[in-house]
Amino acid sequence: MASTETTSTTQGAGTKICIAGAGMGGLATALALAKAGHQNIHVYEMASNLGFVGAGIQLAPNMARILDRFGVWKDIAAEAVQCADTSVREGSTDKELGHVDLAYVEATYGYPHMVGHRSSLAGSLYAGCKLEPAISFHFSSTVTDVQFSAKPSFQVTPREGSPYRETCDIFLACDGIKSPTRVDMLKELGESAEVQDTGQAAYRIMLTKEQMAHDPELLKLINSDTVTRWIGEKRHIIAYPIASHTIYNLSTAQPDTHFAAATNATYTTKGSKSKMLETYGDYCPMIHRMLDLVPDGEVCEWRLRVHAPLKTWVHNTVALVGDACHPTLPHLAQGAAQAIEDAAVLGVVLAPSRIGSSPSPEMINKALNVYEKVRKERAEALVELAAENGRAMHLGAGKAKEERDKLFAALKAGGGKGPVPDKWADADVQRMIYGHDCMKVAEEVWEQEQSSKL
Ligand SMILES: Cc1cc2nc3c(=O)[nH]c(=O)nc-3n(C[C@H](O)[C@H](O)[C@H](O)COP(=O)(O)OP(=O)(O)OC[C@H]3O[C@@H](n4cnc5c(N)ncnc54)[C@H](O)[C@@H]3O)c2cc1C
Repeated sequence: MASTETTSTTQGAGTKICIAGAGMGGLATALALAKAGHQNIHVYEMASNLGFVGAGIQLAPNMARILDRFGVWKDIAAEAVQCADTSVREGSTDKELGHVDLAYVEATYGYPHMVGHRSSLAGSLYAGCKLEPAISFHFSSTVTDVQFSAKPSFQVTPREGSPYRETCDIFLACDGIKSPTRVDMLKELGESAEVQDTGQAAYRIMLTKEQMAHDPELLKLINSDTVTRWIGEKRHIIAYPIASHTIYNLSTAQPDTHFAAATNATYTTKGSKSKMLETYGDYCPMIHRMLDLVPDGEVCEWRLRVHAPLKTWVHNTVALVGDACHPTLPHLAQGAAQAIEDAAVLGVVLAPSRIGSSPSPEMINKALNVYEKVRKERAEALVELAAENGRAMHLGAGKAKEERDKLFAALKAGGGKGPVPDKWADADVQRMIYGHDCMKVAEEVWEQEQSSKL
């Protein structure tokens, strides 16, 4: 059996693991730990169900490799769309700036670059979890007041019924960008990392084939296997077909004028259609026609926020996972993929075969420190690269834009070969992101740590 293959064993029955949050990070973490042999895993989710966000998501090979090992990739891939290529275009004219063939990705990394529906990714992860008797879900249950002692404890407030306290051996906070656990942990450690406004917001739009069918140009887009990015000063739109080409998904990024004045902690809101059309007012007529298909009252706007890198993700037997510790701008399409890498690494370092079936708090802390060692630098580098990519895509007239556009021109002249200013499509960046087998790296780092102690 390959060393990274996953299997359930009877070890680990004694270790109680509690997870806050059933987003992509929480679901993948529960699944990774069950596959590693843990038998007592509890997931607490404040929402009453998975609350599927109606939006698409890019499914990069580094995510697919992990999901395949966990046995949930096939179902996701069955309804996802395989990207043949990507086209970067000028938003105002629809003129193509650069074109990159993505067919090489599968041959090089073992998995193609795919795009799919979030509900398909979350639903398949959940279905995988439901097949594991080791995992119990507690929906409508909000976690607060985490105590970071050797046996961590926390309060659970069910939507109905009285609050109660729980204790466990390992507590994993997959509670998203607003993570109350992160806030408590930083307070306890005397650190601070306030959530930062990026000054950017996003519209997320899904159009059906029926809505686009009357317009040959739009029909061509939804029938294609192309990820298209239309760029312009301070804003862009990225779009691709999902759900076997029945839905066209658009995700935008533009200056956050709407939320900036808000004093509450709202991250999503109903946007105004006229404001959206005005924001993309100088984009080409085809894009206007597309945005105009969004029904009034169904414009959904997201506030894009991040925070400065944390000093640590681990305190005693508690660790932060996913957006709780490395929220990112979406410009590399790696947020969920990185949460899933976190989960996979936790599955490796916390495997009962490594830490034993009744690990001491010291052993758990040691394993969590290996998790941080494997994951923190990489995740934070990708957060920075995503921000950098946004800056490059959003350039206005000037020297930097001229340099960028020269690179696009060279890419065109070279038939799609050479550096790509849109980093997610750049072969060197893809090698760094897709070529990384985080589970293998975790095994190697674990072995190194063991031998350095001898
Ligand atoms: C516009 C946009 C486009 C994106 N596109 C991509 C993409 O193409 N590819 C990609 O890989 N990533 C993408 N991402 C990023 C990705 O969506 C996130 O990084 C990812 O979903 C984070 O998962 P998570 O589980 O860490 O957090 P979340 O998904 O936020 O999950 C946190 C969960 O914890 C629950 N929770 C919170 N507090 C509590 C509590 N106190 N008690 C109990 N439960 C709690 C919440 O209800 C939620 O279910 C995109 C993001 C945006 C905004």
